Amino acid sequence: MADLGTMTRTVDRLDTLTEPAPLVDTHHRRITYLRLSVTDRCDLRCTYCMPERMQFLPKAEVLSLEELYALARSFMARGVRTIRLTGGEPLVRRDVIDLVRAIGRHVGAELDEVTLTTNGTQLASNADALARAGVRRINVSLDTRDPATFRALSRRDALPQVLEGIAAARTAGLKVKLNTVVMRGVSDAEISDLVAWAHAQGHAISLIETMPLGEVDEAREDRFVSLADVRRDLEARWTLTPSDVRTPGPSRYFDIAETGGRIGFITPMSENFCAGCNRLRVTATGQLYPCLGGGERVDLRAALRSGAPEAEVAAALDRAMLIKPERHDFRIGAGEAPAQPRHMSVTGG
Ligand code: SAM
Ligand code: SF4
Repeated sequence: MADLGTMTRTVDRLDTLTEPAPLVDTHHRRITYLRLSVTDRCDLRCTYCMPERMQFLPKAEVLSLEELYALARSFMARGVRTIRLTGGEPLVRRDVIDLVRAIGRHVGAELDEVTLTTNGTQLASNADALARAGVRRINVSLDTRDPATFRALSRRDALPQVLEGIAAARTAGLKVKLNTVVMRGVSDAEISDLVAWAHAQGHAISLIETMPLGEVDEAREDRFVSLADVRRDLEARWTLTPSDVRTPGPSRYFDIAETGGRIGFITPMSENFCAGCNRLRVTATGQLYPCLGGGERVDLRAALRSGAPEAEVAAALDRAMLIKPERHDFRIGAGEAPAQPRHMSVTGG
């Protein structure tokens, strides 16, 4: 593989950041946020995300770190200010820190932030390097603090590593936000205790509704919980006040007076947030999906590997603006097929 340092210098010399045309879709939404998947592979098998026998993409189809960096630069050139690396599990990709470091060099200039979403299993050994590479805050997925429930949900026995990873992130000076998918009959009963623990540790937490993406081994309607119900339950225990805080993502935040912490609600099912969508997603094989719930895509890998990559990628981004749908149409119920056959681990969460 070519040296990423040499490659970043070449890309940085070649690209023309003068007068970029911002990315605005046909619904007048300005795109400023990229979720870039570095792998579809994962060391967990969360039941809502993928089946136990998940078919991963052939490694040969996955973009190199150099290609991922070149794409990141192309998005920066069009006004993207936040890049979140994701997957699959981003920290299972060897050398991913090199990519974080290369992108991190642009924070404070073209970029406001480089960050990542991780399941935390490999965080303990990576937290310091991430902080040194320019990451300031990360999202760590934690659905439960109960070892047996963790095993049932992720099909792996990794809770101690994840908790160790969260502690290491804090020690490294990273701000941690927890992400929690609420699952009926599995983790819903412990949500308020999980929120209390997160806030006692100084972490914000966002709750997420399960989305119908890809076939999994159980019926989604058996596990779906509306966050409207969860919020009502939390309001019976605590005082929730809408917060002014806005992050680039879809969370709507509330402050909890009694815990002194913040809670976010990500409600793709019960309360559509597409009107404010500022995001694009690129898979590890370079397919740009303008909507998590849509099938529309443009092939950035073909553009990158063409004779004129800069011009072709720029043209592909323009095409993406024309096809970004107004909203997703997620439905969960008996007999409903997934909104898309792609699992969230493929598109990038
Ligand atoms: N492996 C990393 C992790 O788990 O944080 C990053 C990728 S994961 C696909 C990103 C986020 O998507 C996680 O917070 C995960 O819980 C969430 N997720 C995965 N499948 C989902 C689904 N079908 N509905 C809602 N959230 C989902
Ligand atoms: Fe892996 Fe994240 Fe999917 Fe869980 S949610 S299986 S950790 S990609």
